[in-house]
Amino acid sequence: MLVVMQALATDEQIRAVCEKIESLGYRAHAMPGAQRTAIGITGNRGEVEPGTLDEMPGVQELIRVSKPYKLVSRDVKDEKTVISFPGSDATIGGKSLAIIAGPCAIESRTQAFGVADRIQRSGAQFFRGGAYKPRTSPYSFQGLGEEGLRIMAEIRDQYGMRIITEAIDNESLALVEEYADVIQIGARNMQNFSLLKRAGRSKKPVLLKRGMSATLEEFLMAAEYIMSEGNYNVILCERGVRTFADHTRNTLDLSLVPAVQRLSHLPIVVDPSHGTGRRDKVASMARAAVAAGCDGLIIEVHSDPDHALSDGAQSMFPAQFERLMAELRIIAPAIGRSVCVEPVARRGWSR
Ligand code: PEP
Ligand code: MN
Repeated sequence: MLVVMQALATDEQIRAVCEKIESLGYRAHAMPGAQRTAIGITGNRGEVEPGTLDEMPGVQELIRVSKPYKLVSRDVKDEKTVISFPGSDATIGGKSLAIIAGPCAIESRTQAFGVADRIQRSGAQFFRGGAYKPRTSPYSFQGLGEEGLRIMAEIRDQYGMRIITEAIDNESLALVEEYADVIQIGARNMQNFSLLKRAGRSKKPVLLKRGMSATLEEFLMAAEYIMSEGNYNVILCERGVRTFADHTRNTLDLSLVPAVQRLSHLPIVVDPSHGTGRRDKVASMARAAVAAGCDGLIIEVHSDPDHALSDGAQSMFPAQFERLMAELRIIAPAIGRSVCVEPVARRGWSR
């Protein structure tokens, strides 16, 4: 059930409707839009019993939402969600593409700073890197843990880039939310419902990766888990799915971009690194993803990929990333988007 407020409804009227919903034993989610506010109702086991909601001042109408996902849906909010970051001009979901780059894993301070320096000069506004790595083998490098988070925080202080890193369980999430600007939930955890709910109680935006065999509906329902707990800053990420194809590690499903955008107001970014698994294919798919209309890219970059402790085969060299950024600056305007200029040309940016 969705309560659509009148365009001129006051904050008090909105608050009164939310209180009424909560007094009926449900949860109210006010989602302000450009034209009007809609209030999503969750927490109901069956049909919502609307009581006298439709007679309250400022209410325009009550709409039954038939789709299984509600808060992620354009029914609740038609305008795209744009996520902003205090003290930064970077956004995710805005006209300017969000460019997230960095190594698969934080291996050392020297390695992380070396990559950070190069990608920031190329115009990336977000730095990625895993401190907690979900590895197929228990004998592979598992990440530096909190030490990795500390290195990333230092990188934010020095370069101004916002930090995005993965939480693999509730314990690591508590630390990740303390240090990072965006919490990443990995493909392997897309249906870890207790982790999704915990991320939904965080104040930090969440980047949710699509599970490697997840349908669009399963993906949107995973995002709904996060939003239903009150965290509306969710970023979806296509990172490739398992298919029979063996020329790539995964098959990057770019058609998910328009499919998501039709149903949901949430931003969607594309990861062509995990989506192909091969360095020589990353730039092509990154360009295609931008042309397909994604809201940003997340790309693995390493200064010495042959010696990387994880995902070296799909990590770009910094010079390749720099070239890609120059190409994206040409492609993006063709579809009404832009790519951040290099920081030397950026006003008010201190290093
Ligand atoms: C990653 O981003 O390094 C990662 C582990 O991604 P995914 O969860 O998509 O495999
Ligand atoms: Mn990786």
